[in-house]
Amino acid sequence: MADVQVDVSEIHWLMEMFQTVDVGLVVVNCDYRIQVWNGFMESHSGLSPRQVRERYLFDLFPEIDEDWLRRKCDPVLLLKNRAFTIWEQRPYIFKFRNYRPITGSAEFMYQNSTIFPLSNTRGEVTHLCLIIYDVTDVAVSRLELESMNHRLHQLSKTDFLTQLHNRGSWENTLVQEYKRIQRYQHVSSLLMIDIDHFKRVNDDYGHAAGDEVIREIATLVKKNLRETDIAGRYGGEEFAVLLVDTPEAQALYFAERLRKLVDKTPVTYQDTVIQCSVSIGVAESWPQMENHRQWLERADKALYLSKANGRNQVTLASQMPVEPVAPGIS
Ligand code: GH3
Ligand code: MG
Ligand code: MG
Repeated sequence: MADVQVDVSEIHWLMEMFQTVDVGLVVVNCDYRIQVWNGFMESHSGLSPRQVRERYLFDLFPEIDEDWLRRKCDPVLLLKNRAFTIWEQRPYIFKFRNYRPITGSAEFMYQNSTIFPLSNTRGEVTHLCLIIYDVTDVAVSRLELESMNHRLHQLSKTDFLTQLHNRGSWENTLVQEYKRIQRYQHVSSLLMIDIDHFKRVNDDYGHAAGDEVIREIATLVKKNLRETDIAGRYGGEEFAVLLVDTPEAQALYFAERLRKLVDKTPVTYQDTVIQCSVSIGVAESWPQMENHRQWLERADKALYLSKANGRNQVTLASQMPVEPVAPGIS
């Protein structure tokens, strides 16, 4: 009699543990009708064991992708092995709201799960047990870390003042473009842009005003770009733009439009209106180009000519007087 007492107590304890354990426990039969539903599942779903009993799992929780879960569970029934789901694959099986104070930023509970077979006394699998783990803390930390790493990576490539590519990042892009052009024999163009008499801006209005001018001109550059074009801040008040798959004639059109835009868009800093212009050099890629530096130098020489000829103008490298590596000139 005493032994029976102990057994009953143990079953009672087991039931208490089953109810209070901080994981979800669900048992379904082979037709996916719910048989057992513990306290964790009740408190997160708002549905009592009585409300879910004998209900078809996929009717009660339409958010569960039936095909996907069956693909996981069918081998468990047939082969008596275990299956696992992880939040990286699918964030959850049951869409429960997240109430955790620390990871309150997550809208829902991230879940991992284990699915294992339950057999009868003859060893036949008659039911499946799903254990649902709340892994919201881990998932949110990981996602935040990933997003921070992504942000840091972006920052390491971005110029702080203008939000354009910084020089290192822009040059990397140029190297990639150079390789692509050489391999596929495409034609792209390079623009070097330098603000005219910028020292005067700093001298007359101060460094902060100068910064504002750089920022505003960078904005004009950005506004004029197509999705595929890549602009960078090459130096203090110099910008470089790579016009992908763009021959010189089209690049000239872009450069002229930008030059005119800068010329007719004065920058306002506090109460001061500052009038600026830019000089631009344009160089189209050419098949014999040996490295990306040659391309840069050519655009830079064209820019120098724009300066020498009076500033606020665009010069095409192909129109430079003597240029041994120019396309078409041997
Ligand atoms: P030019 O028409 O020949 O280009 O004349 P310039 O006065 O613009 O001459 P240059 O390009 O040599 O001068 C660039 C000046 O830009 C020198 C430097 O003081 C200033 N500068 C460089 N970086 C920054 C920056 O981040 N902010 C500000 N405000 N000024 C900068
Ligand atoms: Mg300069
Ligand atoms: Mg300048």
